[in-house]
Amino acid sequence: MTGKELQEQLTWKIPHIAAKAPEQVEAAAAFCEGYKEFLNHGKTERECVKSAEKLLLAAGYTVFDEKKKYQPGDKVYRINRGKSIMATTFGVCPIEEGVRINGAHIDSPRLDLKANPLYEKEGLALFKTHYYGGIRKYQWATIPLAMHGVLVRKDGQTVEFCIGEEPGDPVFCVTDLLPHLAAEQSERKLKDGIKGEELNIVIGSLPYEDEEIKEPVKLKALQLLHERFGVVEEDFARAEIEFVPAVKAVDVGFDHSMIGAYGQDDRVCGYTALMAEIETVNPRHTTVTVLTDKEEIGSEGNTGMNAAYLKDYITYLAELEGANPKTVFANSCCLSADVNAAYDPTFPQVYEPRNTCYLNKGCVLTKFTGSRGKSGANDASAEFMAKVIGIMDRAGVFWQVGEIGAVDVGGGGTIAKFIAKLNVDVVDLGVPILSMHAPFELSAKLDVYNTYKAFAAFYREA
Ligand code: MN
Ligand code: MN
Repeated sequence: MTGKELQEQLTWKIPHIAAKAPEQVEAAAAFCEGYKEFLNHGKTERECVKSAEKLLLAAGYTVFDEKKKYQPGDKVYRINRGKSIMATTFGVCPIEEGVRINGAHIDSPRLDLKANPLYEKEGLALFKTHYYGGIRKYQWATIPLAMHGVLVRKDGQTVEFCIGEEPGDPVFCVTDLLPHLAAEQSERKLKDGIKGEELNIVIGSLPYEDEEIKEPVKLKALQLLHERFGVVEEDFARAEIEFVPAVKAVDVGFDHSMIGAYGQDDRVCGYTALMAEIETVNPRHTTVTVLTDKEEIGSEGNTGMNAAYLKDYITYLAELEGANPKTVFANSCCLSADVNAAYDPTFPQVYEPRNTCYLNKGCVLTKFTGSRGKSGANDASAEFMAKVIGIMDRAGVFWQVGEIGAVDVGGGGTIAKFIAKLNVDVVDLGVPILSMHAPFELSAKLDVYNTYKAFAAFYREA
């Protein structure tokens, strides 16, 4: 045996997918057309739930009824408070052998309105915001923003907003200083380039025509909101209104190999997990696809993964068959479907190149997240890593490993640790992303496609 042969036999190289499987370029591009649609119609968790429900209904899913009997192959879904959704295909095996879970989150970083947001200052009407999730605040100034969300009026009527997405719609924005006057601001640390209380959104500049009126621009804005939506100022206290980038998902690169869009963390895993769920036919084990809310603020709240809703849903599934839920959980396993930070050649210093994921090398298996000595991580077992890698290898899925950056540079978390609390085996798997949490994030189509293939294989084989 030559040294070269020995080297080939013993060492590990992760290939570029297009070099190994050029035929996937076209298949991935076709798959991602649906993904871009999903992104464009789902800019909030509520909108993603609606899009997901539409796709599930079209695929023959019905609303889950815990008092009904189901057969292998039956497909059901349940929505939790309009902000998270679970879908299931009943398996052939008894449920005591566990369920197979893919869990992604459909909330993304953004600017939320405060409860009393509207004010006027020197002839401009503005909204006060409180950012949601980990954003780099300076990235959110001087980009067009769209207004999404819901508000419940005093009369109990719910108003839904989606302004800034259609041609002819106005958009909104946070302002920044011109360079000519920014000398002092430019001395700030980058994290304070735009401060939290400077994330104020411009919404109007014309006054209500009555010279007696104080704050006439604010009144004009309220008048317009009232005419169109029946809204009064106090109604903002009964609202969840999110300002998000008013930008559509687009191809990036001369080769159209990438997608640039808002909210790919983690709607990319939401969409791929949902597609894998929908195409699953007569699985061995019952599937549970969950698209959850609130991951970006620590999975809190009753629509987040730290709440009881997933546990209760699986408990209902167990009880349908008279099985002990504890046994079901103990025999279940899960892919915590979330993105990871792709290597960025412009900022190599924060990565450890051997243990970082790269665009176009496939879905990224993340054994642990966390920070400073894996603190806050799930840290998947060797055995479960082996199981997931085996499934992907047998299915011809391109995969790689990755950590979030070099040791002690930073870190992050996912829903994995909350799934683990249920006594379920779990590991993170998802798509490498550049500019994560920015208003415009980048993914590679080949990675999106292989993540979908990984989720589908997991439902077939795990
Ligand atoms: Mn995420
Ligand atoms: Mn995130």
